Amino acid sequence: MTDPLIPPRLRDDCFAMPQGVSWVPVEDALARLRAALLPIAGTERLPGRAALGRILAAGAIARRSNPPRPNSAVDGYGFAHAATGEGVQRLSLVKGRAAAGQPFAGVVPPGQAIRILTGAILPDGVDTVVLEEDCATDATTVAFDGPVKPRANTRQAGEDVTEGAEALRAGHRLRPPDLALLAALGIAEVEVYRPLRVGVLSTGDEIVDDPGAAAEPHQIFDANRPMLLALAESWGFAPVDLGHAIDDPTAIAECLDRGAAAADVILTSGGASAGDEDHISVLLRTRGTLSSWRIAMKPGRPLALALWQGTPVFGLPGNPVAALVCALIFARPALSQMAGAGWAEPQAFTVPAAFAKRKKAGRREYLRARLNAEGRAEVFASEGSGRISGLSWATGLVELPDAAAEITPGTPVRYLPFASFGF
Ligand code: AMP
Ligand code: MG
Repeated sequence: MTDPLIPPRLRDDCFAMPQGVSWVPVEDALARLRAALLPIAGTERLPGRAALGRILAAGAIARRSNPPRPNSAVDGYGFAHAATGEGVQRLSLVKGRAAAGQPFAGVVPPGQAIRILTGAILPDGVDTVVLEEDCATDATTVAFDGPVKPRANTRQAGEDVTEGAEALRAGHRLRPPDLALLAALGIAEVEVYRPLRVGVLSTGDEIVDDPGAAAEPHQIFDANRPMLLALAESWGFAPVDLGHAIDDPTAIAECLDRGAAAADVILTSGGASAGDEDHISVLLRTRGTLSSWRIAMKPGRPLALALWQGTPVFGLPGNPVAALVCALIFARPALSQMAGAGWAEPQAFTVPAAFAKRKKAGRREYLRARLNAEGRAEVFASEGSGRISGLSWATGLVELPDAAAEITPGTPVRYLPFASFGF
């Protein structure tokens, strides 16, 4: 087994943008990230029940077919199809019955029938079952109308999954129904990735950690850290709280050191632009390998991508709205890939707009949105990226294309529900 505490080794220049690139379209940025990041190595074996939410590191192979033997899909009477025909059929009943867990040991001769219940293995001589409700019987004979379709009301061995088949692929995240499948196929244990450890760090002199504390007028409570930690947790990762660092290179470096030791990837918020007070950028440029991506997207100023002691760092914007959107659009697929689940594309739906907006060409825009009673997307009244309440108002995002767009009520738009982002 590989050591789970060894983060993936990335090339120092893995986040580098080609020379001369100024504003990077969202798609290009995503493609670059996708090519740069690798799954983390650590795996372990877990019983099915304990593996809920984990990502398979190897395909799950059926130890047994489902169903293991041909059986009856209904309560009724079983017989050999070849001995039946058109019109009223009258078959004498053999003694005994076949039930789930109580197989019939004998043979049913051609032209005779047996009482059979749902889930019972088809006895020798039986390939077809007629539904109880379609029969008349006097306890020695059963009568029904022919013709009956061959193999009616039966399930074939392995018709669902055959023994030896790969039932679930590596990279699949286990959900409750998957536990049913694993159990049905006799798979008691699975090989899964260890949860990706996601460090979350806030920066800024104005930030106060505890929302229960007293705050001076110039201070603000840390909104990003609880949100980003909770996102990591909703995504099935292991959140690692790296606290808050003031805008001081030594303080930030100390937090990043802790992050590099305790996490596989670090999300920071604040200080990611190129301004004087943007210490994350300055620090990563001097002591890490920083690539500042100016992404042609609103909201979201530059996204800072760097390696700190080999650990990838995503420098998200400080604004909570921009931090969330950047986390959903960039960090989620990237983290999913690092966790072993592959690149995660959100499922989008095309719905009519309930709003009007004219946008210029050159950048992609994400608006806080929700569906109204008619299934049309309405957007939050303000696009101001400090309006955190709009995130709670919204149930998803509307994505407007990079190109210019003139949206009027009824125009089809792409709606990305928050559920498509895994929360
Ligand atoms: P910055 O990216 O550091 O320039 O921050 C941009 C804006 O986001 C500023 O108004 C910050 O006060 C605010 N901000 C930064 N970090 C946080 C945070 N963790 N929680 C709430 N607001 C923040
Ligand atoms: Mg700041």
